[in-house]
Amino acid sequence: MYNHFTIILHRKCTASCDLCCVQSKPSCQESLDIDRVKDYISSSIYCESIKSIGISGGEPFLEYDKVKELITLIKNTGKKASLMTNAYWATSYVEAYDKLTELKKCGLSSIGLSYDYFHSPYIKSENVSNVLLAANDMELNAGLNIVISKSHLAGEAIDSLGAATKEAQIMIFPCQKVGNAAINFDDTEYLRTRKSAGCYCKKGRGYSVTYDGTILPCCSPSVFSTALSIGNYEDLDVTSTLDKLKRNPYLYLLRTYGFDYFIDIARNKLDIEVPEYVVSACELCALFFNEKNIKKFDSYIDLDLVKFHGRFKEKSLMRF
Ligand code: SF4
Ligand code: SF4
Repeated sequence: MYNHFTIILHRKCTASCDLCCVQSKPSCQESLDIDRVKDYISSSIYCESIKSIGISGGEPFLEYDKVKELITLIKNTGKKASLMTNAYWATSYVEAYDKLTELKKCGLSSIGLSYDYFHSPYIKSENVSNVLLAANDMELNAGLNIVISKSHLAGEAIDSLGAATKEAQIMIFPCQKVGNAAINFDDTEYLRTRKSAGCYCKKGRGYSVTYDGTILPCCSPSVFSTALSIGNYEDLDVTSTLDKLKRNPYLYLLRTYGFDYFIDIARNKLDIEVPEYVVSACELCALFFNEKNIKKFDSYIDLDLVKFHGRFKEKSLMRF
């Protein structure tokens, strides 16, 4: 059951990391309309199952005043507010402490940071340390996301941050072959340790509203390379979004029966080459459900499997 969604406020970023899944950079212009974002967030008041709402980018601190407004609104809607950043703005401990104090007063519950070898050409490790130390001192939850590849594991990033990582919740993710990474990295760089057989989608708790309003069913980097959109936030509120997510047969099947169901179709009906090992289930998602391949699966989906559970009736509703 979904209990979280993330708003990708805009695509613009101060950095242009070699692995960026949304291919952000300073010249990007795509951005969501703030009034529509507010309406969408406000509509979550009717959905008790939604407990938290995140703001992300690009780099959300580039629109700091809007971020403050949205965090205040999220709090007033009765949800927890979280924020992702690359910490470019935290040029000193005092700067980090002051901004986080202000955001905490608005209602910020937690801050997430992205830092690793791939961010290091653009962001000083001191900036990230400043945010982690300030968050720790004011008892604000802080998390650090580190992406790794075969040549660049987590140790070098953690070492460069020193004692600041002591209290942070560190999450380590293997790099997915999508976005900039798919262009920039050799295929051997990916840490493919999972067998394709037996993979399930396990991230059904958070969805994303992307910088052009497209709603995607999770927050995984790979989902940006899929055609798994369930609609656009211009046409939906949170209640109807959750309903469409629940009734989407692709999501239902890959979370109920797992990827084996699709691997069988890919191998035996569609002649799609399925790797034996993958970075994670999400790599299969990007392979099977990209713009080109997803249409091929449409005619092989056995709707009886879905109908059986009374969730889905018309093929025309299969995809947005
Ligand atoms: S900091 Fe994040 S959003 Fe910005 S370019 Fe790097 S990976 Fe993309
Ligand atoms: S398997 Fe697909 S839907 Fe599930 S979390 Fe990964 S990208 Fe998202």
